[in-house]
Amino acid sequence: MAEPILQVQGLRTHFTTRQGVIKAVDGLSFNLEAGKTLCIVGESGSGKTVSSLSIMRLVDLPGRIVEGQILYRDTDLLKLDEAEMEKIRGDRIGMVFQDPMASLNPAFRIGDQIAEGILIHQEVDKAEARKRTLELLAQVGIPHPEARYGDYPHQFSGGMRQRVLIASAIACRPDILIADEPTTALDVTIQAQILKLLKEVQRNLNSAMILVTHDLGVVAAMADYVMVMYAGRMVEYADVETIFAQPRHPYTRGLLESLIRLEDTRETELAPIPGMPPDLSRLPAGCSFAPRCPAAIETCGARYPALQDISGGHQVACHLVADLAPAVDETVP
Ligand code: SF4
Repeated sequence: MAEPILQVQGLRTHFTTRQGVIKAVDGLSFNLEAGKTLCIVGESGSGKTVSSLSIMRLVDLPGRIVEGQILYRDTDLLKLDEAEMEKIRGDRIGMVFQDPMASLNPAFRIGDQIAEGILIHQEVDKAEARKRTLELLAQVGIPHPEARYGDYPHQFSGGMRQRVLIASAIACRPDILIADEPTTALDVTIQAQILKLLKEVQRNLNSAMILVTHDLGVVAAMADYVMVMYAGRMVEYADVETIFAQPRHPYTRGLLESLIRLEDTRETELAPIPGMPPDLSRLPAGCSFAPRCPAAIETCGARYPALQDISGGHQVACHLVADLAPAVDETVP
């Protein structure tokens, strides 16, 4: 196996609020190699977005990374001061956010917003930054880049704005690309185009990619590895084939069964599993999924299950993992 380009160890990001401490990410560990895609899945509030923001060190107060290590190559990002982190963010690690309108400055021209990142991170003059920006706009499929360079974000469609964000994120040829629900706001046809584009740029750059999504169709199309999160913790991790063919955690199985139930409607967004995700400021002592878990036993309410490697990197946090035989279902994609 190739050397990981990103190693996250014991990451904890907590929010101190009047209601108490919200453990949005609580002890996350994983590695990622160049050229590979990790999809992080889970319901709203599972910690997937806070995890990706933590890697970028973009968590706003009252959130704080309270523990852990985030190694990019040999550098622990959590030990860098803000100026050092700025050099890595947008250069070696690029990020594509869910809502391009919120990420682009409405008062500045599209081309200038991309060129600015190039000027900050690379030793080039304005003419060279403009030339590279035009190349990037063409690369992400913006027609007539010269003519569109001076347009403002509101003059672009949602899909085109997302292409601009991708151009901006890859402007410095990052080693790691993080995309947080990059297609959620787009219609299905544009979604497919944007995913194809992300795959192409990843292949060209050999970047590692972290893709945060709640859409299992996106996971099936994009992932090499899948991390399933619940209540701030990783509950299952495996390569994509294993997750779909042999899910072991009851929560993962619930997500996949939701997908099967929805197949008739040809939709792939997660149907809610019965019950509500827990209040993160008042997590139960035992397994956070216990109140919703059809397999729960007494032990589940008493102590949290440790994450176990059950075979070749397939990790599961469940007291009953040994009893839950692989569910091989031919109908799962
Ligand atoms: Fe369900 Fe218990 Fe496993 Fe949690 S530990 S997922 S409650 S069986």
